[in-house]
Amino acid sequence: AGEVRFEDVHFAYTPARPILKGVSFTVPAGHTVAIVGPSGAGKSTISRLLFRFYEPQSGRILIDGQDMAGVAQASLRAALGMVPQDTVLFNDTIGYNIRYGRWDASEDEVREAARLAQIDGFIEALPEGYDTPVGERGLKLSGGEKQRVAIARTILKGPPILVLDEATSALDSFTEREIQDALERVSRGRTTLVIAHRLSTIVSADEIIVLDRGRIVERGTHEALLASD
Ligand code: ADP
Ligand code: ADP
Repeated sequence: AGEVRFEDVHFAYTPARPILKGVSFTVPAGHTVAIVGPSGAGKSTISRLLFRFYEPQSGRILIDGQDMAGVAQASLRAALGMVPQDTVLFNDTIGYNIRYGRWDASEDEVREAARLAQIDGFIEALPEGYDTPVGERGLKLSGGEKQRVAIARTILKGPPILVLDEATSALDSFTEREIQDALERVSRGRTTLVIAHRLSTIVSADEIIVLDRGRIVERGTHEALLASD
């Protein structure tokens, strides 16, 4: 389960300025599709429409053949997981942050998710800014570490469909490599839509879609697109 399909989706935030101009693609269940393109092309808008923060003016968005317009928000949110590029942590331990939304998870499940996301050394740690007793200091997590907390949270939630905002460009190349490994682990076996900022950061996708000014201008495998560059 978990096929995602956009059918001729048109969308504008304001009537005068169309953002998506007839976007169609399918992410088969369990597959990974990456969307690349210049800033402002409409990549993040696609993920906002999938989460139904906005509704398309025309066209359809289907999950497993079912039009999302008729599906309750709650069941939509259960099916979808998001790893954002900038994670805001709650004012509590990293373990709590990983567990967020899965309050029934056991300690072992939390530890396993943390291990897969390579953040297991930090489970008891408190993020910087936490209201700690005098003399204690919270831990300042790097951008990459915060992203790993978000990855661990998503692993624990275990949704069939994932949206990864792959903003690894701000990270050094060692951290980038590690994050990509963790993202690859979490996306294995799930339907995954990767919002990528550079073709070079995509490690593995079954199909890459190039979006420019609201239109799909190219699509193909990683190898085919690199060859045509
Ligand atoms: P990308 O992710 O490819 O950089 P976005 O989907 O974020 O592009 O944005 C596409 C276009 O839509 C941009 O020109 C952006 O300025 C515009 N846009 C994004 N969000 C809004 C909004 N809430 N209201 C109006 N315009 C927006
Ligand atoms: P949703 O998944 O609908 O966005 P939440 O993730 O906010 O809802 O909450 C899911 C469940 O976790 C709810 O039963 C809620 O009462 C509980 N919950 C929410 N926030 C906390 C919290 N800070 N500590 C403990 N339980 C919480």
